[in-house]
Amino acid sequence: MLVLGLETSCDETGVALYDSERGLLADALFSQIDLHCVYGGVVPELASRDHVKRMLPLLRQALDESGCTPEDIDGIAYTAGPGLVGALLVGASCAQALALAWGIPALGVHHMEGHLLAPMLEEQPPQFPFVALLVSGGHTQLVRVDGIGRYQALGESLDDAAGEAFDKTAKLLGLGYPGGPEIARLAQDGRPGRFVFPRPMTDRPGLDFSFSGLKTFALNTWQHCRASGDDGEQSRRDIALAFQQAVVETLTIKCRRALKQTGLARLVIAGGVSANQALRTTLEKMLGELNGRVFYARPRFCTDNGAMIAYAGCQRLLAGQQDGPSIQVHARWPMETLPAV
Ligand code: ATP
Ligand code: MG
Ligand code: FE
Repeated sequence: MLVLGLETSCDETGVALYDSERGLLADALFSQIDLHCVYGGVVPELASRDHVKRMLPLLRQALDESGCTPEDIDGIAYTAGPGLVGALLVGASCAQALALAWGIPALGVHHMEGHLLAPMLEEQPPQFPFVALLVSGGHTQLVRVDGIGRYQALGESLDDAAGEAFDKTAKLLGLGYPGGPEIARLAQDGRPGRFVFPRPMTDRPGLDFSFSGLKTFALNTWQHCRASGDDGEQSRRDIALAFQQAVVETLTIKCRRALKQTGLARLVIAGGVSANQALRTTLEKMLGELNGRVFYARPRFCTDNGAMIAYAGCQRLLAGQQDGPSIQVHARWPMETLPAV
């Protein structure tokens, strides 16, 4: 089955073609980062308008790249939520219009299920069951995954998502958007031990997270540096490193707990923050000690993309799921409510 995947939940327009027999055939992507970076974050209305502009050129690009024609396509998957409603509506209406014109089924896909399944596009995909750590710009969740649509929430952030904490901390240090890659780059030359940040909520049982305090801690540290005339690049690097270490160690402690609680030895990390090299290395070391394994996608498939939506949609379309003709998107959409495949 050949599936067209459309992603428009935030500030990336993604169009991909995934075939259940031949794998990923095309993956066209346009990032709006340059459009939003002057504002220090995503401006929803600008995002929607830009998705409209990019969608059809990217579709043509994906068809060219794959050598497929519209007649070859068996179904269309699009991100139906969670995300920015205006942005989601662009993908949903394109998908429904094309499905109607081409006489094929359309299916709305959950964006976080897309992220969660992205490592399945790699050469050595994880087997079910596993524990998944979803760490993106809007979500931080630990989930027990027994199959597609068989999700049990284990813990989540009570305030900022991990990616959001990276973005906000970068902003207050005067760095660009998105903040994750910027912090990671500065942290490479940070001096360990100069600053030590807290590891929020690790001193009590449970699998929930809280990251908003780290951003405040970074702000206070930076203001203290500036007040003492120590506001050079090295202080930024030292803060970036201390912040990143705190996030990585906090996530690692909770992952270890989740693995212990579930008795599982496979960990999947997904979402934009799973591109972070320090996080990957630290989790690999932890899983090594447990005789387990950590799985993640290539960096391009950690952040938003059409390939993960095409893949997730393909699994569900193969199982016979499809939408009715109305166009529906969800700003919020709990992943546990999805049907099992
Ligand atoms: P959601 O998926 O929750 O709706 P989103 O789609 O905006 O949110 P993603 O595209 O998955 O989020 O990821 C973007 C986030 O990942 C940003 O917060 C960004 O700073 C972060 N990020 C990207 N690369 C890295 C990195 N190398 N280190 C840390 N964070 C990173
Ligand atoms: Mg993005
Ligand atoms: Fe995302």
